[in-house]
Amino acid sequence: MAAFSEAQGGAGLSEPERQGDLCVVLRMLGAADLSVARLFEGHTNAVSLVLRYGSPVQIEKLAHDVKMGELTGVWGAEDAAGLKRHQDAAGWRLEGRKILASGAGFVRRPIVTCATDDGPVMLLLDLSGTENVDETSWTALGMRASATRSIDFSGLVIRAGQQVGRAGDYMRQPFFSGGAWRFCAVHLGAIERLTELFRDDLVSRNRGGDPYQRERLAQCAVATGTALLWIEEAALRFANDLLTPAHVVAYVNLTRMVTERAGLDVMELVQRGMGLKGFIRPHPVERICRDLSTYLRQPAPDLAMSDAAGALMEETLPLGPFA
Ligand SMILES: Cc1cc2nc3c(=O)[nH]c(=O)nc-3n(C[C@H](O)[C@H](O)[C@H](O)COP(=O)(O)OP(=O)(O)OC[C@H]3O[C@@H](n4cnc5c(N)ncnc54)[C@H](O)[C@@H]3O)c2cc1C
Repeated sequence: MAAFSEAQGGAGLSEPERQGDLCVVLRMLGAADLSVARLFEGHTNAVSLVLRYGSPVQIEKLAHDVKMGELTGVWGAEDAAGLKRHQDAAGWRLEGRKILASGAGFVRRPIVTCATDDGPVMLLLDLSGTENVDETSWTALGMRASATRSIDFSGLVIRAGQQVGRAGDYMRQPFFSGGAWRFCAVHLGAIERLTELFRDDLVSRNRGGDPYQRERLAQCAVATGTALLWIEEAALRFANDLLTPAHVVAYVNLTRMVTERAGLDVMELVQRGMGLKGFIRPHPVERICRDLSTYLRQPAPDLAMSDAAGALMEETLPLGPFA
């Protein structure tokens, strides 16, 4: 319920002034378990979308269902055929499937995107749990517990009242691309945890006096601290409606780069510093590196970097206020 407002029984984590708190929660969850954090991040994103674009009836119904224990999420990824809807006597009949849908099989109130002639629309589904989930579809290195799989909706009939907002709302900026700061915060939680585990290992094995290991630990601390500064600032800018959407998106795109680099660097430093021990189950470093290296793969990183550089070139002010 935390993403709903206090009046709705939540903690207001979708509200602009609470994005700093959301950042802390996402980091804590990322440190504990990246799969749980993925599900929470998707749930929070979906609640925010319904709060921003949904009708009062949709908001009230989702708040009720979440209070009863249901989860939501945002399932946008699809195969080449995509998800389509066809007019039906009772509303619309869906055809097609979603891929890479976290929580497929137990998330009952997801938002799915569906292509229309006017652009993608969001549909807030009410699933029974008997839908056709391909449980064999996730064979990636890590993130198995996120239950990220394909789900086929062909034949499902939905009512007109299940569309959230208007066509195009889903991709409205800065919310669509700028929301990426949230997965950066999740990743950072895991990166911070890796650094702590490395520190503890050095101390417990009495290897902390070695100058090479000290340098590795210092580099981990610099990488995590740098990512934290960027991500906290990105969360603030995301919530600042005085900034242009283009500015917020560019800042978050740069933040994605900083976070990915921090994750890759810290994994390498920790794996080299701990040696084989960090690759042997059930050591938490093994699990975190497996999950983090998978979850760091996010959509179109090159485009995010290139768009950010483009935005920087349009700036006429000194770089300082931008970055
Ligand atoms: C654990 C996990 C859970 C997920 N859960 C969900 C979920 O619940 N809902 C959901 O909708 N999605 C989910 N996703 C999918 C996620 O949103 C992304 O779609 C996915 O991670 C994209 O990863 P990718 O590396 O294939 O990206 P890509 O964008 O394919 O990037 C791969 C590489 O190709 C480059 N590239 C991209 N486009 C082009 C192009 N046109 N030409 C040339 N190069 C290109 C990129 O810069 C990058 O170098 C999940 C992903 C993960 C890992």
